[in-house]
Amino acid sequence: GTALVLFRRDLRLEDNPAWSTACAENGRVLALYVHAPEEEGQWAPGAASRWWLHHSLSRLDSRLRAAGGRLHVARGDTLEVVRELAGQTGATAVHWNRLYEPASIARDSNLKAALREQGVEAHSHSGALWSEPWQVETKQGGPYKVFSPYWRNLRPRLSAAPPLPVPSIAAFAQASNGLPVEALELSPRIHWTGGLADTWQPGEAGAHEMLEIFADDAVNDYVQLRDLPARHGTSRLSPHLHFGEISPRQIHHELDSRARASSARRRPDIEPYLRQLGWRDFAHHLLFHFPHTPTESFNPRFARFRWADADHAVLGRWQRGRTGIPLVDAGMRELWHTGWMHNRVRMIVASFLTKNLRQHWHHGARWLWDTLVDADLANNTLGWQWVAGTGADAAPYFRVFNPVTQSRKFDAEGSYLRRWLPELEDADAGLLHEPWKDPGLLRRSGYPAPMVDLAQSRQKALDAYARRG
Ligand code: FAD
Repeated sequence: GTALVLFRRDLRLEDNPAWSTACAENGRVLALYVHAPEEEGQWAPGAASRWWLHHSLSRLDSRLRAAGGRLHVARGDTLEVVRELAGQTGATAVHWNRLYEPASIARDSNLKAALREQGVEAHSHSGALWSEPWQVETKQGGPYKVFSPYWRNLRPRLSAAPPLPVPSIAAFAQASNGLPVEALELSPRIHWTGGLADTWQPGEAGAHEMLEIFADDAVNDYVQLRDLPARHGTSRLSPHLHFGEISPRQIHHELDSRARASSARRRPDIEPYLRQLGWRDFAHHLLFHFPHTPTESFNPRFARFRWADADHAVLGRWQRGRTGIPLVDAGMRELWHTGWMHNRVRMIVASFLTKNLRQHWHHGARWLWDTLVDADLANNTLGWQWVAGTGADAAPYFRVFNPVTQSRKFDAEGSYLRRWLPELEDADAGLLHEPWKDPGLLRRSGYPAPMVDLAQSRQKALDAYARRG
């Protein structure tokens, strides 16, 4: 028979259960991408994600062309496109890998019901996570809200077995009216993406290269290096994972087999890294069970919390990296330039926005949604609610990061600050973390004075918290 495979955020051919099953069970397959951003509710991909998607789809198309086929690209209503193509190709089955955002779940269950009604088989597969969000349950049978017990439950069930190989394809089904990837106009016309292109190689091959760089070196010192933003101490796999160019199973297998192959004395401990990757499954577990949390506080005690009114001038300075607080500004400029920000710095910019500036975490989550190449509804929601103190397993609200202490601790030599704040490049090491202590330095460099006093603004946040409810 003939099968259609819907590619969404699983832009890979290896370890792709939907693709492998369709290829194994059918004489002909059609690889399909339907661009339907309006089906993602309020969370259509932002500008940086669209840039990534453009390149990742092009790479997938090239890979399929090398195998004698192509990626059939279409836009419009997913159900209509699938119906049209099933008619054209005589397909009797449609396969896809599941997504877990509320809008995607609703779309996919309609799709499944409508196709089955027409006598077309519809099969969804598990390809994005280690484990389906409903498979991990507390002893009482409910979802977890705290990470540690969740991980204690999940970890023993994970296997480092080899992932699915790239399947062989009997034949590609032919269909007319496919669009070139360019027709989706995902890549911006104004050229602001140079920094992204210098930093990233979207696609399956780029994902494996990134994994190799990490596995060759930094994984051995992950615990020591992961909090230092000047170092490449983390895997930087987040955009590749978001777009499904690589799966947690593939990462696990690769790291595990390398560890086994190294001599016992020098065997790296990959557990801390696997545990961190576990946060991604946990974030999806939370989003699945608490689908209101991208817009509402997880902790109901914050439902009526008084944030400061949205202030566009304040938000603008934060977005542009002109707050006058070096570590915050360095992070926001790294984000603008590369589409990514180090996790430690994400926590600090988020704490500064929600505590010192008292702006609602929604404003920060939106800005990152548009500017991150790894923007991910589950992970972004968890990250913001955690820092804002409104989340499930969150830092308490009254824990306000001090960006100066953090900067001295995690960027002691100031190399991260100098990289992203060129106007302070020549500042004396002692002043770099607090340039306002030398008004002459601010005048000469043009670097702004702090937009708020750190101690006073922290106190105001604590007062607001004490009055909550
Ligand atoms: P590594 O340390 O190498 O970790 C490996 C992988 O594990 C990551 O690629 C990611 O998929 C997962 N992971 C690691 N930490 C977390 C975490 N805390 N929560 C969920 N998954 C995690 N991550 C996103 O992928 N998309 C987002 O939109 C996002 N928004 C965030 C917003 C805020 C305010 C905060 C504090 C964190 C956010 N994170 C987000 C989580 C984290 O910062 C990034 O996943 C991480 O910095 C990516 O870099 P890496 O791949 O080098 O991480």
